[in-house]
Amino acid sequence: MSGIEIQSCPACAKTWYLPRQLCPGCGHAGPETRPASGQGTVWSVTRVERAPDETFRAIAPYLIALVDLAEGPRVMAHLTAPAPIGAQVTGEVRDIAGRALPVFSPR
Ligand SMILES: [Zn+2]
Repeated sequence: MSGIEIQSCPACAKTWYLPRQLCPGCGHAGPETRPASGQGTVWSVTRVERAPDETFRAIAPYLIALVDLAEGPRVMAHLTAPAPIGAQVTGEVRDIAGRALPVFSPR
C-alpha cells in the first residue's frame, strides 16, 4: 500500500488528490477517500536549488515532479532520481524533512 490517498465524488465521479470537504467539480458534500495504487507517470520535473524554508534547505538540491496517478489526479511529489517526462514511477508516502509527503521513484 502506497499511503497515497485520493478522493472521488459519488455524484459526478470526479477524482482529486488534496483532501476537500466538497467536490471541486460539482460542490457535492461527502467525497469518498480511497487508497491510490502509487503507480504514476511523470508529467514534469524540476530540480529545486533554492528551498522554501530551513527544513528543505537542509536537503536541497532535490527533485520535485508532477506525477499523473494511474487513478487520474495529478500530484506534486518528491522524486528520488531523475526521470524523463512520460517515465513510469512508483510512489509512497514517506517522511521527508519531518513531513509526510509523497515520494516517487522510477520503475
Ligand atoms: Zn462532484
